[in-house]
Amino acid sequence: MNSPFSSSSPLSTPSTRPPRPAITPGALLALLPVFPAAIFIGAIYHFIGQYLDLIAIFPIIAGVCVGAVLTTLAKKQKVRSKPALATIAILAGALCFCSRWVGDSLQTREEFINSYSTKFAGSSAASQARAQAALRSYYTPLRFLPIYLRVAAKEGATISSTGSSSSSRGSSITGLGFWGLALLDCVLMCGAATSLAWKQAGEPFCAACDSWHGVELTVSRLHPSQGEEAAKLAQGRDFAGLGGLRGTGATETSNCDVLLTKCPGCSAGQLSVKRKLNNSIKTLWNGQVSPAETAKLQEVRAQWLQ
Ligand SMILES: [Zn+2]
Repeated sequence: MNSPFSSSSPLSTPSTRPPRPAITPGALLALLPVFPAAIFIGAIYHFIGQYLDLIAIFPIIAGVCVGAVLTTLAKKQKVRSKPALATIAILAGALCFCSRWVGDSLQTREEFINSYSTKFAGSSAASQARAQAALRSYYTPLRFLPIYLRVAAKEGATISSTGSSSSSRGSSITGLGFWGLALLDCVLMCGAATSLAWKQAGEPFCAACDSWHGVELTVSRLHPSQGEEAAKLAQGRDFAGLGGLRGTGATETSNCDVLLTKCPGCSAGQLSVKRKLNNSIKTLWNGQVSPAETAKLQEVRAQWLQ
């Protein structure tokens, strides 16, 4: 009898076409909207940052937003190139960071032009307008940015919940500390975006069906001390034995999970045995499983769920 998964079955997808490359020029182009999105996220950060800026936390949140846009695009375009996605994530993160600074600088420029024209041009509206026009044409946004940064570094970044650099409250970090903090913010933003993009690039993908795998299923949850045994059984393809393993005492933060994802098209799967100890996760085994093995593992899961 023919298995429903054999190559002659209509259920399986014949892999006659060459597998999709990890990234194509077309997909790369389709990822480019992440850059305007990063500028937009940086602009939002600029507006919120005037009222509240939490060191380390806000840059990470901004980076996660950039990463979320990038992973959404990468998923749609089926991009699995880690170097390409990481490079784009770092560039987009840096752009988001700069966009925030440009926003701060533009706003400070407006305040500076308004206050100086009022101060030096007297009360006449006409002479104020002339002074503003003169200041505007001299202090172009591009020329003002380095001035703004120098002054910001001198005044320092304020570490307090009231945030912005114009606030005089809280302790200030100036000079080298200011640049160090800025670098840290930028690294955190790029890092958060990159880690999301990296994870997406590594998601299981079926080249034959040209499709991402479906959601990850927990086949069974064991005690962390059973990790080696479970990995050995998985490696030896003894899935009945793996299903027979029962562990007690596993918790949310300390466990050994047997996890399965499968292709929605051909049901070929990817199995992994992951041990979690104090919230740090280590993959003990990871490998491809055939559609028949996937079916067996789903039976194991059903038994475990009972
Ligand atoms: Zn498939």
